[in-house]
Amino acid sequence: MADDIFCQIVAGRIPAEIVYQDENMVAFKDIHPKASVHVLLVPRKHIPSLAELKAEDAPVLAHLMQKAGAVAQKLGVGKNFKLVINTGPEAGQVVMHLHIHLLAGKGLPQSP
Ligand SMILES: [Zn+2]
Repeated sequence: MADDIFCQIVAGRIPAEIVYQDENMVAFKDIHPKASVHVLLVPRKHIPSLAELKAEDAPVLAHLMQKAGAVAQKLGVGKNFKLVINTGPEAGQVVMHLHIHLLAGKGLPQSP
């Protein structure tokens, strides 16, 4: 069974600055923010990466995307934010538990 840092945050065994949670996901502040608002949207279910997303888990990802706007609104950046999914170590994925970066505010990285 997977026991990466996000699994441990989801289980409440490692503290995080949680900004939103429900039965399917947890959203918390990135400890190394790349912009003035930088939150990670993490499914409670362990899915290693977008490359390994199974069809039956697609609703989990849809739920994360659907809640992004509400999380952004809660953080005061409701209509101006960016979502990024790094997939694989060579593309910058550090924790092998699928997550979406929600970035907004000052220091927002340039678009590709
Ligand atoms: Zn995990």
